[in-house]
Amino acid sequence: MARIIRCECGYVARGDTDDEVIAAIRSHMGTDHPALLTSVSREDLLGWIQVE
Ligand SMILES: [Zn+2]
Repeated sequence: MARIIRCECGYVARGDTDDEVIAAIRSHMGTDHPALLTSVSREDLLGWIQVE
């Protein structure tokens, strides 16, 4: 099953594994929300994952 993380801006990151979806949302944050990238931990991101 796919995993998704919905960004507060409306962007949806997708991946087949926790690591993939975290890499995808971090890549998005790096370009659109660089401040978030440093303040949000991996544990926070794990808590945001939804299984689709
Ligand atoms: Zn965003």
